[in-house]
Amino acid sequence: MEREHFIRHLPPDIRAVVEEEDLLPLGLLRRLHRAYPQHSGLVASDDHFFPDDQRYVGIEGLRRIDEILRSHGIDIGHMPERELFIHVYRFMATSHVLNSINWRAFQQDPLYHLVIPQPGMIPADVTEAYLRATSEEERQRIVAEHRTRTNPHDGKQKLNKPWFVDDSGTTQILDGSQHKYPQCQLIFDVETQNCFAFCTYCFRHAQVRGDEDMFLQRDIKHVHDYVKRHKEITDILITGGDAGFITPERFAQYIEPIIEDPEFTHVRAIRLGTRVLTYYPQKILRRSYDPMLALLRRLRDNGIQPAVMVHFSTPREVLNPATVAAIRRLQNNGALIRSQSPIMRNVSLWLGPDGKVDVDKTAQNWIDLANVMEMLSIGFHSMYCARPTGEHHYFSAPLAELNEVFRKVYRSLPSIARPFRHLSMTSSAGKISILGTTEVGGQKLFALAFTQGRNPEWIDKVFLAHYDEKENTIVHLKPFDSDKFFFEDELAEIEAKLEQFLTLYEG
Ligand code: SF4
Repeated sequence: MEREHFIRHLPPDIRAVVEEEDLLPLGLLRRLHRAYPQHSGLVASDDHFFPDDQRYVGIEGLRRIDEILRSHGIDIGHMPERELFIHVYRFMATSHVLNSINWRAFQQDPLYHLVIPQPGMIPADVTEAYLRATSEEERQRIVAEHRTRTNPHDGKQKLNKPWFVDDSGTTQILDGSQHKYPQCQLIFDVETQNCFAFCTYCFRHAQVRGDEDMFLQRDIKHVHDYVKRHKEITDILITGGDAGFITPERFAQYIEPIIEDPEFTHVRAIRLGTRVLTYYPQKILRRSYDPMLALLRRLRDNGIQPAVMVHFSTPREVLNPATVAAIRRLQNNGALIRSQSPIMRNVSLWLGPDGKVDVDKTAQNWIDLANVMEMLSIGFHSMYCARPTGEHHYFSAPLAELNEVFRKVYRSLPSIARPFRHLSMTSSAGKISILGTTEVGGQKLFALAFTQGRNPEWIDKVFLAHYDEKENTIVHLKPFDSDKFFFEDELAEIEAKLEQFLTLYEG
């Protein structure tokens, strides 16, 4: 197969960069395509329905997509149900992700479920009431009521806001930051409150929807003042929204003092949390991205690791020429790429006809993804379960069945391709992993451990919970041999103190 078969759809300016920097060696493309033809979108197809560099936004955007698909004889149907979802959350898709969907079999395509709202995502009773409503006012009321049930700040994230006392003795709260685990500070920068496309299962929908109480970091000096006072911070994670939106000018304002000032020698990695590689890899492949690449190199050359945290959950989103080229361009400029990968129904988790998780099919998706990532030198950071936010009922599955998937993935992979952690779920207490199951006195139990905790002393201490075939949320599991988990009293104390402090200063 010749090179042209792969790169036919790349626009001329991107082709020039790809050729000049040798981002798509033919041997790599052939090998990836030959290994995973069932997932590959590497060979340019004729189903390139959406013109390059377009974004389809809101209800109008979805209607336009529907119109384009209809002109090619494809009917996705269920528009009122899809529009209800958009009223509650938001909608946006890029031409890149839309062209990555195999429209000839769209119902089975994970990316279709990742970006296009589906009937069933909003609970049936709400959908029925909405469809029956006879006035716009009634519809708006149903949407507003449902929105209040979407639990935007799960895991008590508001308690993670850090503060410090400045040189004049004034307490400064960082409104766009979270510092829950000692080593890593999260920044929700003012420039990164946007996404390239919206994921249907978004667990940051307060940010995406623009809720009044979203996290928003405007003042970079506050971040520096705080980090200087906290020598335990080694990693700064810029997130959002999507850190892919940060401009080189603003990124330089964050990193230059960290590079130059010896007070920041404790900082060893700057991470960018982004889905640009899934939704808009073209951004990385244009000359206009060169200043950002120069900053990544500058970090690397000063002993600070630039890391791009992606969220791949299916080989389909990796195996296209623009994404592969963008991965290589980032890596060639010093970035480490690591995937924190969500396991979500219809995207990276499937049920069988009996309504239970299809362990073989689901595990195979993850095994293939892990192998593709290994071939592209992407670290498999973790697999994590749907958090109780947004339409959790739709995307989640019982932990017992997810554990079966994880076991199969883990034992099928060579050690360097395995996820670095066991399957985990975030809660206010921290990230809790399911290590597996065990038996004590004839009782089947889950063995659990923190991989991150509000108190780092909790990390890696194995604790037990009763096995439950149906439960889909780790913190709802029942402790074994006691009425509470070992950390619960301390957690309540920590939360109460944080709450008290923030109420005092924020009102
Ligand atoms: S990229 Fe992140 S913040 Fe944006 S929609 Fe997806 S999950 Fe939500």
